[in-house]
Amino acid sequence: MAIAPWTEQIDTMAAELTATRREFHRIPEIGFEEVKTSALVAAKLRALGLEPHEGIGKTGVVAMIEGAHPGRTLLMRADIDGLPIEERTSLEYRSTHPGRMHACGHDTHITMMLATARILLEHREHLHGRVKLVFQPAEESLGGARAMIDDGVLEGPHVDAAIGCHIWNDMPTGHVGVREGPIMAASDRIHITVEGRGGHGAMPHLSSDAIVASAQVINSLQTVVSRRVSPLSAGVVTIGTIHGGYASNIIADRVEMEGTVRSFDDEVWQQMPDFIEQIVEGTCRALGCTGSVQYTRGVPTTVNDAEMAALVRDAATEVLGADRVLYPQQSTGGEDMSVFLQAVPGCFFWVGSQNSEKGADRPHHHPEFNVDEDAMPLGVKVLVASALKYLDAQH
Ligand SMILES: [Zn+2]
Ligand SMILES: [Zn+2]
Repeated sequence: MAIAPWTEQIDTMAAELTATRREFHRIPEIGFEEVKTSALVAAKLRALGLEPHEGIGKTGVVAMIEGAHPGRTLLMRADIDGLPIEERTSLEYRSTHPGRMHACGHDTHITMMLATARILLEHREHLHGRVKLVFQPAEESLGGARAMIDDGVLEGPHVDAAIGCHIWNDMPTGHVGVREGPIMAASDRIHITVEGRGGHGAMPHLSSDAIVASAQVINSLQTVVSRRVSPLSAGVVTIGTIHGGYASNIIADRVEMEGTVRSFDDEVWQQMPDFIEQIVEGTCRALGCTGSVQYTRGVPTTVNDAEMAALVRDAATEVLGADRVLYPQQSTGGEDMSVFLQAVPGCFFWVGSQNSEKGADRPHHHPEFNVDEDAMPLGVKVLVASALKYLDAQH
């Protein structure tokens, strides 16, 4: 297939993409506080001639590109939130907001989606159907996708499919990653409370030591994945915080712990709360303490529809060439694009942005995180090609 001239147009937009990304990078805001960010998104959409709706899902923005012909509705999603991290780069365009940073690359998602909107608008006459551009707040564990769905983003008009992407520092620039089925993990939170009976540190037999019980709980929790989950399935149980105790010679009566639980299979996801409760309660009881678990469901597994993944893969192959389209390993990271993909078939793909020569090799959420901005034109090409393919009359 001949590469459409719009791919060359995207190449000429590289400097503009970089400038836009830096504009957003300077003003990171955390989930549901994206006031400046969404105002800037809306202003840029208006400059393109669109009529954005603001305040969807609190701080989200939605805009519609109507094709010239009747057809299906494709939702294209970019998340817009930053993280509560102090940026430790010396970049000239680093965060101007203390304690806030675009450390996951969502600034690039906004940028790529705005550029996608521009190109698709210029190809309106070829579109059978419409693109619903969704700029989603609060991706980072705060439920932004759910908030937008609750505000009706999947209706009026009804959404038939969804596409989104994530800039990806685990993959070298120049590549994109597309696969069907589960691509990112379900992510849940646990809060564990261990209660014992306090006492003198020299007389343990007169008390029930919540710290010793907690130590056993932490070790035993490692058997959830190694002994309860099938070796052919994946899972993670991580305890990330532990708080308890008063002084070196006092037996603690209470310990609080927090952790994260990851899984891919629906069966494992269903079983995890029971597996964890059994260990916490049983271990504590055996040591004369009581243990309780508050299990909070976070985001479900991000599952790509086979047909939509094939469509994105074909689109990517056409515009980038087969050698640039990888079939990546799944990530145990969580992602709330999953909430959209539970509701409608879709595909979430990765845009490789790792380049150690440019210092773009830190992991996501790191205070020195940065991406290779040259990855963005590739992401735009795949987004545009996928939308054109999906809204083509032949499909
Ligand atoms: Zn993130
Ligand atoms: Zn992210």
